[in-house]
Amino acid sequence: YEFKEASFPAPLEKLLYDNYKKPTIIQSISWPVALSGRDMVGIAQTGSGKTLGFLLPGIVHTLKQAPLARGDGPVVLVVLPTRELAQQVEVVARDYCNAMNLGLACVFGGAEKGPQKDALRKGVHICVATPGRLSDFLSFGTTNLRRCSYLVLDEADRMLDMGFEPGRLSDFLSFGTTNLRRCSYLVLDEADRMLDMGFEPQIRQIVRQIRDDRQTLMFSATWPTAVRKLARDFQSEEVFLNV
Ligand code: AMP
Repeated sequence: YEFKEASFPAPLEKLLYDNYKKPTIIQSISWPVALSGRDMVGIAQTGSGKTLGFLLPGIVHTLKQAPLARGDGPVVLVVLPTRELAQQVEVVARDYCNAMNLGLACVFGGAEKGPQKDALRKGVHICVATPGRLSDFLSFGTTNLRRCSYLVLDEADRMLDMGFEPGRLSDFLSFGTTNLRRCSYLVLDEADRMLDMGFEPQIRQIVRQIRDDRQTLMFSATWPTAVRKLARDFQSEEVFLNV
């Protein structure tokens, strides 16, 4: 398998050829699956090249979506267990995102919130995040409008005249620094480690905010029952890749 067989946009392909000789095994088998839009599970270790395995199809996915407006939440969300891993993924992702002019934000605990908040507020295409810090930025209301697909604005002229703030409803919704309304490509990286670290409640809370017709990719070094259950709950007709 050669890099060119994936048919990535030219700037991405060039970066690959500049940096490496040929795809790793996980890349050569995950790219066609991820590019086809299917859910997948990849049993793979750190060092296998899995980051580019999920990232480049994510970039291609993003390029097919509507252009970004200021304050928009990410189209691609990568959730992973630790700050170190988040920073590692950011280093790998940065050049590829820059090459396609995509906004990338990396949010993790143990660092100041200010700069991360600023990055999110600008609007981003791709967000790499640890579960705890991402939850802080999302904020979860009593209800949400994810399923709402029929909206009526009644007496619109009067609402505008009154400078109306939809106060009562807003109280129950609550608005975070970012949102997952546009997110349609979700990656759970090192899923087994995230569960070992006790992040399952946060992960479930985050995933509940993401539309059901998303594409979901899960990577894990091991394949215990708890991870299988996550895959069953979050994915449909996923392709299972064990390398
Ligand atoms: P990962 O498993 O994604 O954490 O990747 C580990 C390291 O492999 C990173 O430093 C990458 O730069 C490198 N890498 C990614 N793809 C390739 C490739 N096709 N050939 C050689 N090294 C690669």
